[in-house]
Amino acid sequence: MGNRADIKTNSPRKQAGSLYLLNLGCAKNLVESEFLLWRLKKDGWKMTSVPAKAEVIIINTCAFITPAIEESIEEILLLAENKKKGACKKLIVAGCLPQRFQKEISKSMPEADYFVGTGAFHKIPEIINIKKRNKNIFPDPNKSPFPKHNQKRIIQNKKSVYIKIAEGCNRKCSYCIIPELKGKYRSRPFADIISEAQALIKKGAKEISLIAQETTLYGKDLKNAPDFSELLKIISEKVFSYSKDITIRVLYTHPASLNKKIIKTVAQTKNIASYFDLPIQHASDKILKKMKRGYNAEKLYETINVIKNYDPNAVLRTSIIVGFPNETEKDFKLLYDFIKKVKFDHLGAFMYSDAEDIPSNKFKRRVSKEIAEKRYKTLMKKQAEISYNKNQKRIGKIYKVLIEKKEEKNIFTGRAWFQAPEVDGIVYVNAGNKISMDNKLKIEEGEIVSVKIEDAAEYDLFGTPI
Ligand code: SF4
Repeated sequence: MGNRADIKTNSPRKQAGSLYLLNLGCAKNLVESEFLLWRLKKDGWKMTSVPAKAEVIIINTCAFITPAIEESIEEILLLAENKKKGACKKLIVAGCLPQRFQKEISKSMPEADYFVGTGAFHKIPEIINIKKRNKNIFPDPNKSPFPKHNQKRIIQNKKSVYIKIAEGCNRKCSYCIIPELKGKYRSRPFADIISEAQALIKKGAKEISLIAQETTLYGKDLKNAPDFSELLKIISEKVFSYSKDITIRVLYTHPASLNKKIIKTVAQTKNIASYFDLPIQHASDKILKKMKRGYNAEKLYETINVIKNYDPNAVLRTSIIVGFPNETEKDFKLLYDFIKKVKFDHLGAFMYSDAEDIPSNKFKRRVSKEIAEKRYKTLMKKQAEISYNKNQKRIGKIYKVLIEKKEEKNIFTGRAWFQAPEVDGIVYVNAGNKISMDNKLKIEEGEIVSVKIEDAAEYDLFGTPI
């Protein structure tokens, strides 16, 4: 969470004015912004990467936890300066932040012209043209439609793309506000997902990451629709018949809905990365119950065993919350021992973030900030050691790396199948003088290159092309 992306586009068909869009938050927000940009461009809006030149500024915000809220507010206030000093005539604050604070936001941010909730995000192309300053637009998020089947996107990274397969969440984790902001779980029509995947691979995508609040629940709310495992198989076949080099990746699974059938499909299908993004959040049964996660530590061990039985080399990522109310030293020890035993390849930890509008706010026996920080550091220190040891074992091995950036002359960065975009480590590829010596060796952004790993740090790998 919390990644920021300025989205730039090419020139429009007809001109309606200049526009700047800032996207904040997760990959799910990014996909929404990309769909919106295509519609705005179709309407003739000219995109600029310079906020001071934009007549309309749109900010797609995040409000998941306190640091994300603070970042959103900071960015809004910074961009609002363009109403005084720049060309900005309309400032639109959209997405999770206004949805979460709809009662108070217009009073606290008079600079903005429109506050658009998650249920009206798709209406921004019309809202832009409303003359009257109609500040608050908050229809029911449950009624927000998916982009039309023929709607395209202005994609930031054409080689590594996200496809959103569902919206909303049915769970009630006690620390989370997402279901309030995004509504109930709604699977996207199956045919639209397939046609979007086909369109993206025709445009050159080399990696497709499937995302949702909970990917593994896909299809449960639809009649006669495939379940997630069947959806994966169909996408995999379509992609494979087009190119054998495209990787499919599954992100945001949920330990309560990741079943054997899905695990088998992910672990054994050739063009699906054997990569499991399994956010466990904790490993003490007491805390998991308080969090309302819907599973216990035994179920987690069971699931991880099933994964490793199907593929001993499967890669595991998780996320953890430390300092949750009621977390004692004993609970933390259970979590720490779990991490030590399972040895996740990638792990992201967060300190519990409180807010008045989440159920866990009512829980007593708070963990102090100092203790939460101490536990966070202890956990991350252990994880750094685990990750370092795992990376060391990759030295001498050869992997296909999707090159994403030229860092400097002959130095590139990219990712192998076991590294997801934005959240995991990367591979530094040093082509040295190999490029000039070998005419056939072509390293460019978006290319897949075979790389021999020569060195490894805690999170990143270093190699040379072969
Ligand atoms: S599964 Fe839990 S943490 Fe994830 S979005 Fe739903 S309520 Fe929030």
